Formats: sequence, C-alpha cells, structure tokens
Amino acid sequence: MTVASILKNKGREIFTVTADEPVTTAIAVLCAKRIGAVVVLDDKGSIAGIFSERDVIHAMNTHGKAVFDKRVGDLMTRNVVTCTPAEPIAGIMGMMTAQRFRHVPVVEEGRMIGVISIGDVVKSRIAEAQAEVDALRQYIAL
Ligand code: AMP
Repeated sequence: MTVASILKNKGREIFTVTADEPVTTAIAVLCAKRIGAVVVLDDKGSIAGIFSERDVIHAMNTHGKAVFDKRVGDLMTRNVVTCTPAEPIAGIMGMMTAQRFRHVPVVEEGRMIGVISIGDVVKSRIAEAQAEVDALRQYIAL
C-alpha cells in the first residue's frame, strides 16, 4: 500500500496558516479541525514550515504565558520532511518513528496534495493486516 491509497480514502483536505499569523490562530485551527498539525505556507503558497501541538507544548515550557504573543513563524519547524504519493506506507511509518514526528505533507510534482498523520498510517496498516488475516482464514477453510 502506498501514500496515495491513504489519500484516496481520507481525501486531500489540507489545513494551513501563514508564518505571520498569531500562534492563537494556529491553535484555534488545530482545535476546530481536531488535527495535530498545520502546514505553514509562504506568500507564494509553498511550504514554509509545519506547526504542531508539540511545538505549542515546547514553547509553553520555554516562554510561559508569552507563548500567546508569538507568531507561528517563531515556533514552527522550518525543515519539513515531505513524501510522495508513490511511497510505501511502511517506509513512512518507519520515518515517523525514527524522526519522531507524526505528520508528513505529501508533495507531487512540486505541489502539496495532502497531509498524512500517524493515525492515518496506523489505520491503514490495521486494515491491511485484517485483510491478510481474512484471506488466510479463507484459504485455510477451502
Ligand atoms: P508531531 O509529532 O507531528 O506533533 O511533531 C513533532 C515535532 O516535529 C514538532 O516540532 C513539529 O513541528 C515537527 N514536525 C512535524 N511534522 C514534521 C515534518 N513532516 N517534518 C519536519 N518536522 C515535523
């Protein structure tokens, strides 16, 4: 299974903010959409960073209440790791585990076409494992 199969099931909706927006705006998007990260876009619509709930926690620890006066660009991660729709899901899972992040924007021919989360990856792996069990059970019952 590939990243494309996850996007086919979950759709290609992408929630974004810009680096100059207040952190409180990004937090409001995370809460309203029930997601863990938003992609930060520059003025050309390219990926400038990623901002996740983990960044809020770290910033609260570092800056205390002053975190709410910050801009997204002050707290986001700038070096964003992306993937392509053709990549196998197992590889993405390994990458998320090794690099300790739970969100990966999907980029095709220079254009962002979706975001996959660790939740999407786990859901897909469970479905795959279940399909294998069902096929083996059917084979044994023949
Ligand atoms: P997460 O586990 O996705 O909440 O993110 C943990 C940390 O990794 C945060 O500092 C995020 O900004 C950062 N992060 C999340 N996704 C990515 C990514 N695809 N590439 C680089 N950093 C990321």
